[in-house]
Amino acid sequence: MRVVIAGGTGFIGRALTRSLVRDGHEVVVLSRGASGRKPAPGITYAPYDGRTGEGWAHLLGGARALVNLAGENIASGYWTKTRKARILGSRLDAGQAVMDALSRAPALPDVLIQGSATGYYGDRGDVPIAEDAPAGAGFLAEVACRWEASTAGAEALGLRRAVIRTAVVLGAGGGALPRMLAPFRFFLGGPLGSGRQYLPWIHLADEVAAIRFLIDHEAAAGPFNLAAPEAVTQDGFAAAAGRALARPAWLRLPGPVMRLALGEMARELFLGGVRAVPGRLTELGFRFCFETLPDALSDILRPSRES
Ligand code: NDP
Repeated sequence: MRVVIAGGTGFIGRALTRSLVRDGHEVVVLSRGASGRKPAPGITYAPYDGRTGEGWAHLLGGARALVNLAGENIASGYWTKTRKARILGSRLDAGQAVMDALSRAPALPDVLIQGSATGYYGDRGDVPIAEDAPAGAGFLAEVACRWEASTAGAEALGLRRAVIRTAVVLGAGGGALPRMLAPFRFFLGGPLGSGRQYLPWIHLADEVAAIRFLIDHEAAAGPFNLAAPEAVTQDGFAAAAGRALARPAWLRLPGPVMRLALGEMARELFLGGVRAVPGRLTELGFRFCFETLPDALSDILRPSRES
């Protein structure tokens, strides 16, 4: 089968591409930098301007799935007004590109996998949150909500659409984990803020497996929490990270200090949290390989992988 991935050069997209190609599938990666990339076995790069279907809509003919992961990275820089506008705008534009491509495509794919995040729910304390919970408040909730809505029109075209409300993806060689572990490596690790806030997470291998499950599962439509079943608090994360790296984990970073340094970004990314549960995914029969954080960390940090 052929899968077209917008944002396929990113942390999740690269892993999804590797997994599909390993199983003999064809992947078209849409990238703004496609012209500088050499095709590899099973992978072609198609030009993507981030706003329209120009140059790639024809590739949807005969494709099994279109996966929309493209968007400005949320955590790689301080949230200035301009940066926040890029974070939101790039996702609204990517949604518009998807809708434009679907309207030009010679035939529709079977399914659209639409990116989103557990940030959709906002800061929700310790109550388990399943997919039927309403959207929360704050910048990340607004981004997720509007990003999801940007391709809602695909359903009116008769296309099956699964929305992946993804937790923090933990994997080797990218994503948030290297930055989360850095203080622990320097003996400066510990919980953030009160430590009681929930940190939803998912192993990269399960993220990829869940996306592939949703592509293959004809009954999968609507929102899905892609979060490991065993949620942890920031206290729990610090303890597990300290154990995994054999480092102390008691140096708490106080909330007021983080708020002073990072403002709104601290509040939304680190000091709030949501205990997202993968209700609909498990109901459909998806089995996680990594249900607990210690298992996930020991897999990701095993010496053969780090070298
Ligand atoms: P990355 O930041 O690694 O990759 C995103 C891709 O989007 C890039 O490879 C890039 O492709 C493209 N992109 C970047 N900036 C822009 C822009 N301004 N306009 C259009 N395209 C752009 O993201 P991840 O792979 O980590 O995540 C994929 C999606 O899932 C993201 O949208 C992210 O917000 C969301 N998500 C990720 C989580 C995580 O923990 N990783 C958690 C929850 C949600 P190119 O430069 O080739 O065009």
